[in-house]
Amino acid sequence: MSTPVNLNTIRQAPKVLLHDHLDGGLRPQTVIDLAQAAGYSELPHEDAAELGNWFREAADSGSLERYLETFAHTVAVMQTEEALARVAAECVEDLAADGVVYAEVRYAPELFQDGGLTLDQIVQAVQDGFREGERRVAAAGKRIRIGTLLCAMRQNARSTEIAELAVRYRDAEVVGFDIAGPEAGFPPTRNLDAFEYLRQQNAHFTIHAGEAFGLPSIWEAIQHCGAERLGHGVRIVDDIKVDEDGSVHLGRLASYVRDRRIPLEMCPSSNLQTGAARSMAEHPIGLLAKLRFRVTVNTDNRLMSHCSMSGEFAALHEAFGYGWEDMQWFTVNAMKSSFIGFDERLELINDVIKPGYAALLG
Ligand SMILES: [Zn+2]
Repeated sequence: MSTPVNLNTIRQAPKVLLHDHLDGGLRPQTVIDLAQAAGYSELPHEDAAELGNWFREAADSGSLERYLETFAHTVAVMQTEEALARVAAECVEDLAADGVVYAEVRYAPELFQDGGLTLDQIVQAVQDGFREGERRVAAAGKRIRIGTLLCAMRQNARSTEIAELAVRYRDAEVVGFDIAGPEAGFPPTRNLDAFEYLRQQNAHFTIHAGEAFGLPSIWEAIQHCGAERLGHGVRIVDDIKVDEDGSVHLGRLASYVRDRRIPLEMCPSSNLQTGAARSMAEHPIGLLAKLRFRVTVNTDNRLMSHCSMSGEFAALHEAFGYGWEDMQWFTVNAMKSSFIGFDERLELINDVIKPGYAALLG
């Protein structure tokens, strides 16, 4: 008999996460501890529960200013190697406790240089933290693997430098590159040199596109820059027409994205907060999954959105009735779309993901 679907049982299901920001996933108590250690006195609360609520409310407020303020705090307390390593190790523990078996966690190294760290010191500290987290999880009898994505910020002009950094650490579990930050006014084509360099190096990259901004952003990311995946990609629905009788028409771009199996890193709770979707039931993920786009489910910012992979699956179960087979489909989609080697992906699918869901399906 199939195991009933609820938050507790979903936690036991193996899950794969491709889009999670390191500076968006700190434990509230860690923010407080690190602020104390750094002599940072700008936090709005000194109590972990209150601070956690504050982060969620600020992100929920609909105000971009307040949303950005949340990251100002987390970034401010992550300016030392010790802080970066601690946040990275705890991230791994938290994901493993939630049943995540493989995750690609991203951050922009250039944001952590206020205390004088070099880019290499930053990457090294985070990698050390991830490996420490994996060791702790293994010691507790569980299994998780973390790949790192390095982001360049769209509004800065350092994307080639960061792309080179990603390639330099490709044999140390830095598996790819991304550009993040405001879409409006900063098209991905500003970073063409970086993408050209990455392609010449046979390196992988994804691009945040089609969250707030529409189809041109998605088109540029794929056709000009050569993105292998789309961060969010929600607005691809603007190129899909559904008639009153239910018949569906895909435009050229939507067809291309589906035909080429370009993965969409969808982050439902985060999309609700930024207004990219009005409610979970109206989130484009329902239509896109039905049309068999290569949809994946992700957290984006676990602290600000007060979410987890299991929580996202539970919310989708509630909104769309998804069961274990659907969750396995999302999970295999994500694993297939990851930036690690084909043989490693296959091993995780066959040895971890499929047996995990088979047990739940009964
Ligand atoms: Zn993101």
